[in-house]
Amino acid sequence: MLRHFIQEQLVLPLSDMLTGQSVHSKLRFLMKSCYWSREQLDAFQNERLRLLVEHIFRSVPFYQDYAREHNLQASDIQTKADLYKLPVVSKEIMRAEGIERFTSTAFPANKRILMSSSGSTGQPFKHYITREDYSMDIAANLRGWYDMGWRLGDKYVKISQNPRSSFLKRLQDIVTRNMYIATADLSDRHLIEIMRQIESYRPVAIRSYPDPLYIIAQFRLQHPEFVWQPMAITTGNTLHDHIRRTIEEAFHCPVYDSYASEGNAVCFECHTHEGYHIAEEYGITEVLDEEGIPVVNGQGRVVTTDLWNFAHPFIRYDVQDRVEVTDKRCSCGRAHKLVKRILGRDNEVLIAPNGKRFIVHHFTVYFEPTVTPALQDSIDQFQVIRHTDQSATFLLVVNGRYTDAIGRLIADYWQEQFGGKVDIRIVDRIPIMHNNKRRFIIIEK
Ligand SMILES: [Zn+2]
Repeated sequence: MLRHFIQEQLVLPLSDMLTGQSVHSKLRFLMKSCYWSREQLDAFQNERLRLLVEHIFRSVPFYQDYAREHNLQASDIQTKADLYKLPVVSKEIMRAEGIERFTSTAFPANKRILMSSSGSTGQPFKHYITREDYSMDIAANLRGWYDMGWRLGDKYVKISQNPRSSFLKRLQDIVTRNMYIATADLSDRHLIEIMRQIESYRPVAIRSYPDPLYIIAQFRLQHPEFVWQPMAITTGNTLHDHIRRTIEEAFHCPVYDSYASEGNAVCFECHTHEGYHIAEEYGITEVLDEEGIPVVNGQGRVVTTDLWNFAHPFIRYDVQDRVEVTDKRCSCGRAHKLVKRILGRDNEVLIAPNGKRFIVHHFTVYFEPTVTPALQDSIDQFQVIRHTDQSATFLLVVNGRYTDAIGRLIADYWQEQFGGKVDIRIVDRIPIMHNNKRRFIIIEK
């Protein structure tokens, strides 16, 4: 259709020209490599890995030191099978070492882009990306959406918690036919307004985190006057089965899930719904058990190597999420590795005395300053422990803004949510696990 042609052949190349990106060529590449054989994918990954290893041993201080200390040469790492010779790193390690230690001295400073994410622990994490890496990221996302049935030029609605702030983003929305809906307030009045907006805009797809879309879906089930059927694409945190079912039922639509993390690891649910295909042209995703042994069939943590970021390489980066992988081939015929389920960050589920289930997301959202302003941004870190007697303790690392009244507020709120006793304990620090993972929920057994 004309609108697809305009977006793909005119708008995208023009936007690349203006921004210095290369999304158009990367997308063309990915649409072809999509049907590569396993051997082709492996050869491509190994070739880029060798380039990357040679680069880091030459110009990234952390790896230069590591190579020296462990008597390693670039030639020792020829394929993915040699990756184990390099250390697994985490956000905590990178933060503690400092950004310079992971930044290439050979990559032009004016060509890298500084990224900063805050996260629920309150400590910002800074790193660099490159235009090429960013382009690969966008292209990998686009390919995932194409596979789900949405194309550039199709209208979509993006539901997000944050309001659109920049003029550039708003302009981009107009050009890409995106209706952006901010969900700061999910009152009934606001939900009706959202439903009306979707109904009149008639988008091909809705993109959203699962949780807000779940609330919208529950509301829509009560309002049969809304009939537009878009497809739903979710990302951001674990899509639980009951949330998927409710969204499907409310919108009479297929739901496709996707997963992305810092330092790459992008995967998209296949249109066959048999699992998620990893964008292997973008990075190498390892799934490791607690001993660091690769898992072929079963659950493990995601450790990822970005094959495109030469400014601040992410190599064997522990994204602190767990997935379930399978060595089964997908019936769609593609050779890309298949993730069966995204288990998410910290796999623990806290089952409260009243039977309600709470996952990490429930707590991280609650502790967001914008979600619970009454906490006055006074909590730097938290951990929830559920004891064997069903009571719970919140360990909190607090700052100068904290008062006892805030502690009581937290205890009262969660006591009501859990239907059981909740204690607050102020601590100096929250211990990090041996694998550098921070646990948000501990279930005592
Ligand atoms: Zn497939």
